[in-house]
Amino acid sequence: MQSWTSPSLRPLPASGVPLRLHDTRTGRIAPVIPSVPGRARLYVCGITPYDATHLGHAATYHAADLMRRALHDTGYEVEMAQNVTDVDDPLLERADRDGVDWQELTASQVALFAEDMEALRVIAPETYRSVSEAMDEIIAVVSALRERGRAYTVPTADAAGDDWYLDLSVDGALGDVSGWNEAQMLEVFADRGGDPDREGKRGRFDPLLWRAEREGEPAWEAGALGRGRPGWHVECVCIAEEGLGLPFDVQAGGSDLIFPHHDLSAAHSVALGRPFATAYTHSGMVGHEGEKMSKSLGNLVFVHRLVRDGVDPMAIRLVLMAHHYRSDWEWSDDELETAAVRLEVYRAAARRRGHHPRTVAALRAALRDDLDTASALAALDAWASSGEGTTGSTEADPAGWQDAPGDVPAAVDALFGIALTS
Ligand code: ZN
Repeated sequence: MQSWTSPSLRPLPASGVPLRLHDTRTGRIAPVIPSVPGRARLYVCGITPYDATHLGHAATYHAADLMRRALHDTGYEVEMAQNVTDVDDPLLERADRDGVDWQELTASQVALFAEDMEALRVIAPETYRSVSEAMDEIIAVVSALRERGRAYTVPTADAAGDDWYLDLSVDGALGDVSGWNEAQMLEVFADRGGDPDREGKRGRFDPLLWRAEREGEPAWEAGALGRGRPGWHVECVCIAEEGLGLPFDVQAGGSDLIFPHHDLSAAHSVALGRPFATAYTHSGMVGHEGEKMSKSLGNLVFVHRLVRDGVDPMAIRLVLMAHHYRSDWEWSDDELETAAVRLEVYRAAARRRGHHPRTVAALRAALRDDLDTASALAALDAWASSGEGTTGSTEADPAGWQDAPGDVPAAVDALFGIALTS
């Protein structure tokens, strides 16, 4: 699938210092050390292409972009993979409701998402694939699970064939990422695409692997599985394996994916006999007007609407930076105004070649400390309120970085994706 055009990346000389990230699975902050030396592999779960790109999406892809930039700053080559969930119930329901073809809905929303990612200067993933594009691999993986005795059928009332489910009891791998108990899982499972009460399932959290063709739904030929379409979680296992290889280093996504999506993606992988990700990072939820942003509440704030109304996408990035990626927070117009002022102050400092000792070192240290963007903003505020720099004067930091006037805008661009100079 066509992704988008990345901003030009002019990295600083490698720091050699690893990025430290919070891992949901262990509950600890630990350095990211790639399992393949020198090559960091990152997967971020992509959009279901409707309601793109609201600020919750922007926060997730901003956080993943910062991870990528931080890993690059360490000195690693970075490979990133991302999916597009173009075959799943919510998308098909939306297409049905709006009376549009699901592929047309996908194409329009994927194009909108790409525009927004470009505007926000998010670096494009090396692997960007939709479920429909990855269908051959998905069918191969579900067939392999069937052959390994991990899949079972549940009869259907409204289809010619059976549905297929993954038997989680074989490996007992459920909850490896979330660490949740069954009551916690049950509380959200049905709201997040699960069917805990479906008759004929062996375990309530067993995920749907392959859904037999229903009238009016897209379907693919899949040999012994019958005609149908895949369940949700298996796609990321296939796209990650194809793009990155398993296991890869960091799985990223919103905190609403911890369970069931990331727990069950990992469980699929275990059932295939392959470990999934080494670490799991999750970004917080973005609210608006006192509620979590959601279509049903009608409180979605969209990147493209802000941009259309004249908001500088770099100001949106500064709002995102004002909140730690793991915290839940609320979007507000006041914060956007504060960010717009900040952007002007930073740009003025860049023009007058503002100088404040060790700003670049402070920015790098903040970024690699579990993406401590608030500290980075504090360092930039200090820099922006400093006096005029003198060309040629330098300040050495302990890592040997010569922090010369004019270096800060380059560092802000490389590390945080914000363009301060034209
Ligand atoms: Zn995913």
